[in-house]
Amino acid sequence: MGLNVESVLNVLKPEGPLSICLKGFEPRPAQLAMLRNVLEAFNQKKICLIEAGTGTGKSLAYLLPALLWAAECKERTVISTHTIPLQEQLLKKDIPMITQALRLDLQAVIVKGMQNYLCLKKFADMQFEQVYLSPKELQEWQKLVSWKEGTQEGSRSSIPFPLSNTVWEKVAAESDLCSKSQCPFYTQCHFFKARQQMQHAQLLIVNHHLLFTDLVQRAQSKDPNKEGGLLPAYGRVVIDEAHHIEDIATEYFASNISQLHILRTMGRLSSEKSGKVHGHLPQLREKIASNYSRGMDKSARSLHQKLSIDLPGLRNELIKEAHEAFDTFCSFVKSLKQNQPQQMEESADNKMRLFPHHQKQDVWQTAVTASVKKLAASLISFATALTAVLQDLKLLKNPTLEDQTRATVFEINSLRTRLEEYALQLTNFLSDFSEADKVRWIQMQQLKTMIVTTLVDADLDISPFLIDYLFSKFATIVLCSATLTANRQFDFYKQRLGLSHQKLAGKQIEMHTYASPFDFKKQQLFLDPTDIPEPTSPHFITSACEAIVQAVRMSQGNAFVLFTSNSMLNSMFECLEKRLVDLRLVPLRQGEEDRKQLLDKFKATERSVLFATSSFWEGIDVAGDALRCVIIVKLPFKVPSDPLIQARSEQIAKKGGEPFSEYLLPQAIVKFKQGCGRLIRAKSDRGCILCLDSRIRTKKYGKLFLDSLPDCETAFVTQAELPTVMKEFYRKTHFLVAGTR
Ligand code: SF4
Repeated sequence: MGLNVESVLNVLKPEGPLSICLKGFEPRPAQLAMLRNVLEAFNQKKICLIEAGTGTGKSLAYLLPALLWAAECKERTVISTHTIPLQEQLLKKDIPMITQALRLDLQAVIVKGMQNYLCLKKFADMQFEQVYLSPKELQEWQKLVSWKEGTQEGSRSSIPFPLSNTVWEKVAAESDLCSKSQCPFYTQCHFFKARQQMQHAQLLIVNHHLLFTDLVQRAQSKDPNKEGGLLPAYGRVVIDEAHHIEDIATEYFASNISQLHILRTMGRLSSEKSGKVHGHLPQLREKIASNYSRGMDKSARSLHQKLSIDLPGLRNELIKEAHEAFDTFCSFVKSLKQNQPQQMEESADNKMRLFPHHQKQDVWQTAVTASVKKLAASLISFATALTAVLQDLKLLKNPTLEDQTRATVFEINSLRTRLEEYALQLTNFLSDFSEADKVRWIQMQQLKTMIVTTLVDADLDISPFLIDYLFSKFATIVLCSATLTANRQFDFYKQRLGLSHQKLAGKQIEMHTYASPFDFKKQQLFLDPTDIPEPTSPHFITSACEAIVQAVRMSQGNAFVLFTSNSMLNSMFECLEKRLVDLRLVPLRQGEEDRKQLLDKFKATERSVLFATSSFWEGIDVAGDALRCVIIVKLPFKVPSDPLIQARSEQIAKKGGEPFSEYLLPQAIVKFKQGCGRLIRAKSDRGCILCLDSRIRTKKYGKLFLDSLPDCETAFVTQAELPTVMKEFYRKTHFLVAGTR
């Protein structure tokens, strides 16, 4: 079984089918070389890591083997990405281009997680619960009702208006609450229609999260290689945007519980607003009452009483205990801050790392343990009471009632399982743990009038899972990204993901890098203003603000200003908003609108300046003159006091390594490359990158950031010189964009 490498390479060569069919198609040497690597990885069952700079055409270089493999070897490939825009580009542009040129009769689909689809059952239930919506939610709901009438796909991404998470969650499909073929809406269900389409597709496009869901189901199944997963059987995996794999896997496997989880689940069982009750339990009670309208026998009366008196009483008690238990975590954090401020290093996100010795403290041993155990016991008692109610219902032996309550019973049962899981998570959080393999933290966030406390328990090393579930399971795995190296080496990701010959005996692991084909010497100017103080200086913000004004004045807007924290973004935006408006520029701030809408507005608005944080550092493609300046305010180091980062750094140190150079620095370099990579997206693009963080020049490691840039002009200038240098660059590169207008 295999593909003929030379004949597939011909597809992308001059006079090959793609050149003939596609106007403007140009063969690219790096793309051909990458195509050869991927073909060999398919033929010879290899793991292949590829860094391919922007413009290499990496998606064609992996799609072509995946599609031809499906056509000739009859085996499915899964393509996993981090971002939705990339999935859409693959499905709508790249795959049709290949299948048309090669006349392949193959199907590809984007497989989305269940929570991305409208659940018709929940939607129907909501019709009776609209009274509980706030005026703003009601407006969104009315739009959703008319969208629902016309939608074919039923997925959230096809909704053409902004929709809050709170409204979407009320109608989104959920795996544990779906009764599948028992559901009255099963035959029209958008999610199951999409799943049917997936069965016929030879190429499945998923996100990393969904890939992990499938891998876990597959590992737990008796038939892991065939139909045991969420996805139909597949033999080859391509992971694009692979630099995210460790973070997504860590998030996927972490246990995460807050009082909101408990309150929401309880609210779905039963809740009260403005004197009215709603939820599955009151629904069940009403069904019983209407079925026995002519009088209840003893069993029905007893059940009705449980639903009217016993369960509401237990529910109120449980909710009180949930608030109390999570409040004790807040008090515990406060007591630590007061008593041991030297041991407390709280991260910017209000996360407090929990150490084993904290569990020996009096407050933990008494108040925390007692209240959490009480809550866990109440969760189990409530779950047991639900089981008893459902058993009593069965014993009524009333077929009409059984029919009418089948869906409600299913949902109550699923919510009962959730309560049992919460009890387990809480008890686990109290248990002893080893710092060698786990990190735990308590996070407190203000949400409207309430402090939401989240308890997180995460694995420090995710590589054993990746080896067991992914790398050792599939014949071919291609991991690619525009940024997979730091200091021109793959060591960082190989080590983090467990990709070593010792751990994967018998597997061939290969690495390749391909530089971007763009002429960065001509197209890009990297500027480092030399008179801006270090980011820790009290004068940094004022000085950096001045540099931003100068730069965006020279670029005439069309600029991204990229931050590493919301607080700095907000303070600089507030300082600069009016000045930018006075310069007839259009300041935009991330968070004021939905990400996609904000990006569309940026692209459509001449002279706009977008202030943004993490999600705009990557996965954003603004080709052409719409983006001609990128300003990096600070080097993107992760917050060292973040519990996960801190614990991983300690783990490296314990093994004799150097956490800064082996972990924090490579991560920051990869992110920096991503941020800079927003600027030049096509041959006709040009622009300036400014780094306002002087550490790039003053620290020894700064050279590694500079070396990670493609070969472009670099200028170290004072702020006074900045306008002249930028003006000259834009003047002399005007010809690049002039022809594209
Ligand atoms: S089958 Fe499941 S997801 Fe679909 S409408 Fe019914 S409950 Fe919702």
